[in-house]
Amino acid sequence: MEDAFANALTHLDAAVAKLKLKPETVALLQQPNRIIQAVLSFTRDDGRRTIVPAYRVQYSNARGPYKGGIRFHPNVELGEIMALAFWMALKCALVELPFGGGKGGVAIDPKLLSEKEKERLSRAYLRAFADVLGPERDVPAPDVGTDEQVMDWMADEYAKVTGRREAAVITGKSLHQGGSRGRETATGRGGFYVLQKMLEKLKRKPESLSFIVQGFGNAGSHFTRLASRIGCKLVGVADSKLAVLASKGKTLDFSAISNAKLERGTVDPCRCAEGKCRCADHRHATPQELLTADGDLLVLAALENQITAANAMSVKAKLILELANAPTAPEADPLLAQQGIMVIPDILANAGGVIVSTFEWQQNRANESWTEADVKQKLQTTLERAFATVWELAKVQRVTLRTAAITLAIKRLADATTKRS
Ligand code: NAD
Repeated sequence: MEDAFANALTHLDAAVAKLKLKPETVALLQQPNRIIQAVLSFTRDDGRRTIVPAYRVQYSNARGPYKGGIRFHPNVELGEIMALAFWMALKCALVELPFGGGKGGVAIDPKLLSEKEKERLSRAYLRAFADVLGPERDVPAPDVGTDEQVMDWMADEYAKVTGRREAAVITGKSLHQGGSRGRETATGRGGFYVLQKMLEKLKRKPESLSFIVQGFGNAGSHFTRLASRIGCKLVGVADSKLAVLASKGKTLDFSAISNAKLERGTVDPCRCAEGKCRCADHRHATPQELLTADGDLLVLAALENQITAANAMSVKAKLILELANAPTAPEADPLLAQQGIMVIPDILANAGGVIVSTFEWQQNRANESWTEADVKQKLQTTLERAFATVWELAKVQRVTLRTAAITLAIKRLADATTKRS
């Protein structure tokens, strides 16, 4: 068993002890229902063939079909995909979606592929896993390194392989292929709705809150846009290459950073040479330095295991919002709690993506097309309900928001598992 999955299971163990679950229920929750591995072979533009390992993990369908993204990233390995599938099962249960958990991945760097190569790889993935997927079985979606174009290719390949064109087989598609309005921004927007509720509880005005964001991709950038719009002050941002930190008393401008990312692929709003920035309103730093920079809120929107035992005691933020999956290592949690740092856990903070994916699946099945206003309203209602339940449980049981969220999700999964057996 790989570390990432062992880490995930430590959370299960803690909840199991609290809930006093039957051993046979625990045994079912401790492992995925299925692990499917394949070796994909696809043609490069120069005629060579590339062979890569690929996975799909299906985790507890007691509450409904498996659901979860497909990741293209060079570090993909089975333990990580198992952990992510486990978190998807918990997330769907927490926000009461009719799905279990799933995750897929290919160990490859998509940035090194041409569009045509990416298309051949996406279609090869779908062909390898077509017989375990389906609107009632397992419904993939985008994740790190994949996007709506990849989902469109996969939906098209599914139709070719099965002879059935079923939009609901995959979510996160483009609008003209049956995607949902609001899917693109859903994860960042969902995190934003959760933060607003949190600020109400803490009696904090948005204008009084400074924030730093690690990861300026889909989740991080949409969150930053919305939070900046209500007056929260962006004082730090990083992508995988560079961090930019505002000078004391200054705020970073979302539009300048967003334009720099679009036009030049960097979060740096200036054009000074790296390490030689002379701007008065900000300075350059390493992505790692950002995590311990000054700011009230730290938003983690990059990858797993960013806050660890090594840096947890240096975090200065008093609030953490986890838009990424598992960005805090289990051993860092007690260290953060010890310093009074509150963490809004991933399975709540980043559930917006799978919630709107569920809306897409529902629209496809009912042959409907909802307005963006409708999608936003339903997303907000779903997340505010989940936040209120987790907040109350944490208060009553005097536990962290993470413990409350995980315990509640595991109870729902365990109840569904027991009912079924
Ligand atoms: P993305 O690929 O669009 O963006 C990732 C960003 O993180 C990029 O800006 C990249 O440069 C940055 N990054 C990578 N390593 C970094 C590092 N060490 N320091 C600073 N920045 C770094 O991915 P995304 O879709 O925004 O997903 C981000 C995270 O959110 C992932 O953990 C993903 O699983 C999770 N998530 C995403 C969604 C979604 O709908 N997009 C839903 C749920 C969870």
